[in-house]
Amino acid sequence: ELVLTSGAGKVGQKMLETGLTIDINAEKSLVARAARGRQAVIINDVTKEEGFLPNPLLPNTQSEMAVPMLVGESVLGVFDIQSDKINAFTEEAADIYTTLASQVAVALQNARLYQEQASVVTQLRELDRLKSSFLANMSHELRTPLNSILGFADVMLEGLDGPLTSTMDNDLRLIQKNGQHLLHLINDVLDMAKIESGRMSLHADTFNVNNLLEEVTSITSSLASDKNIALYIEPESDREVEIYADSTRIRQVMINLVNNSIKFTEKGSVALNVSRMDDARVLITVKDNGLGIPTDQLETIFLEFTQVDTTTTRKVGGTGLGLPISRRLVEMHGGRLWAESSGIDGEGSTFFVELPLETRVTEIIEKREK
Ligand code: ADP
Repeated sequence: ELVLTSGAGKVGQKMLETGLTIDINAEKSLVARAARGRQAVIINDVTKEEGFLPNPLLPNTQSEMAVPMLVGESVLGVFDIQSDKINAFTEEAADIYTTLASQVAVALQNARLYQEQASVVTQLRELDRLKSSFLANMSHELRTPLNSILGFADVMLEGLDGPLTSTMDNDLRLIQKNGQHLLHLINDVLDMAKIESGRMSLHADTFNVNNLLEEVTSITSSLASDKNIALYIEPESDREVEIYADSTRIRQVMINLVNNSIKFTEKGSVALNVSRMDDARVLITVKDNGLGIPTDQLETIFLEFTQVDTTTTRKVGGTGLGLPISRRLVEMHGGRLWAESSGIDGEGSTFFVELPLETRVTEIIEKREK
């Protein structure tokens, strides 16, 4: 173990330049003794000290005091003070310097810890940024060949390459179905990566909420009719209310919620509603009477890749990213998204989307635009 010598002033600078070190076990060294003993050492007349090793840069030294810089039991360094007068140092001076040295030691340790933490934070931020940009790039690269696979499956299914046997038709439909699932997954991962790296920006315009819900029901209607589920907008839904928000993203959220409701409802209905909460907010609800969600999982379903473990979930598949993305999108608008359910099969669940009438530009967007 070595005590590295460093210092201020001309002598200290020179010692630093020569890279001088002192072995902590050096028998005679005052600095090493102070470090080993964890207390101040004073020599008030070096001529009387046997084997005293003078510092070649300070040939006139007559007395010397070494004070350890302590934080608890650890020695961070040693103050070394030399004088060209005999008897320059008293016990009192040693006490004062000891206090001073320990204060400097604490400050030094704090500074070191702070520096370490700051560099860890910077490293983590950089890693996170790399992860998100890696995901964003990968998703893009994965989509290109996948679109080609899906495109050619379509071409063949349309019979453009000639007639198909029923086995070929069946296999191609499987390719198509799984390809679409993969595309969905990639799009979700891309969205999540964009949100997390702050690269998702909102483009707000003014639109009628009820009209948007009508679009959503027409997009999802085939899924509902396949399962014989009544999908409708409630008659008392407010047809007038307009909001200023990103209609593409709100549509994405609503499609996701309605798709989920249809997926997790075996028979019954899915009903949509919009109402003004007050002067500033609007509430959109999606109510189904399907499987329901256990009350202890009403929040966890908003975590990435989390699904309620049921045979239905396993059967219908999914990414477990739809709700987390939806919640982030709604929150970017300054709104809230949550679910309520009794958890009883047949009583279903209700998803609530609360949005401001006027979305203010959020921090995320402002940051992006700087
Ligand atoms: P995915 O639907 O792709 O699995 P989501 O994040 O959209 O991912 O949903 C997470 C989980 O929340 C679903 O797997 C399901 O377990 C549960 N869930 C969501 N919506 C409903 C609903 N309307 N009824 C019952 N369970 C639901």
